[in-house]
Amino acid sequence: MPNFAIAIHGGAGTILRAAMTAEKEQAYKNGLAASLQAGYNILKNGGTSMDAVQAAVMAMENNPLFNAGVGAVFTHDAGHEQDACICDGKTKDVGAVAAVRHIASPITLARLVLEKSPHVLFAGDGAEKFAIDNGIVLVEESSFDTDERRKQLEFALAKEKKEAREHTQLDHSDDQNAKMGTVGAVAVDVHGNIAAATSTGGMTNKRHGRIGDTPLIGAGTYADNNTCAVSATGVGEYIMRAMVSYDIAALMEYKNMSLTEAAELVVMKKFKELGGSGGVIAIDRNGNIAMPFNSAGMYRGFMLADGTMKLRIFEE
Ligand code: ASP
Repeated sequence: MPNFAIAIHGGAGTILRAAMTAEKEQAYKNGLAASLQAGYNILKNGGTSMDAVQAAVMAMENNPLFNAGVGAVFTHDAGHEQDACICDGKTKDVGAVAAVRHIASPITLARLVLEKSPHVLFAGDGAEKFAIDNGIVLVEESSFDTDERRKQLEFALAKEKKEAREHTQLDHSDDQNAKMGTVGAVAVDVHGNIAAATSTGGMTNKRHGRIGDTPLIGAGTYADNNTCAVSATGVGEYIMRAMVSYDIAALMEYKNMSLTEAAELVVMKKFKELGGSGGVIAIDRNGNIAMPFNSAGMYRGFMLADGTMKLRIFEE
């Protein structure tokens, strides 16, 4: 049987086991399974890893449980500014968009940037103009709203106010209001090509114009057939500073590390020691998969050519 595989994440962050009900857990797992299946079906029919990661990410953008597309977190001003990136490991082509507010599927727009533009990354109004020029219909920003995310913003704003009033830094370690999220996919296809895609609403309560790691090649997303495809999730400010995705590839290329060794070293040591919380999914051409994270949990899963599917949220 030809070798292909896909791995996905639905975000890392403050997912405490205590706050997870059996029902919620099942809903997340169903969402992850649907995303994996969307990508798997493409790979099984000989499709490309690029199409597979895009389809897997789109499935989560359309699912309000995940922080991308519908269900994206709110900015400080109660809006939504979304980032996305897709990387082709075969050609090293990249397409990315940042801070888009009216795009139903930011990953689809990122793919269009890759295919239809000499540029790599478009932001804000320019990204939306590029979308219109390429036949994408803009949607209302409010179409991404969910009650759950609004509660999370209210919680974060109340906490911020209290901190300012009391001139204190409150303990954020037990936040139940999962500030983070992000969805991503990496895959290898039957042709031996790898790809990575990531899409996110960013961080709850982020300021207008803040861009995270997701659309930045080598930070939140990266793919090169010679090494690996990576999609990261967690606090973007640290992922950018640690150059998480490219660092994993560089350790493989220059230090001859295996995918697992490189991903573990970066996530569990370099990124963590800088103060970063989160994780990655990574894959190489041989279908090896690594999914290390240093946060309380990370929604994740993979599916292999033989149909084996594994879904996880917390540590094994
Ligand atoms: N990395 C994303 C960002 O900082 C958020 C996340 O993954 O939870 O925008």
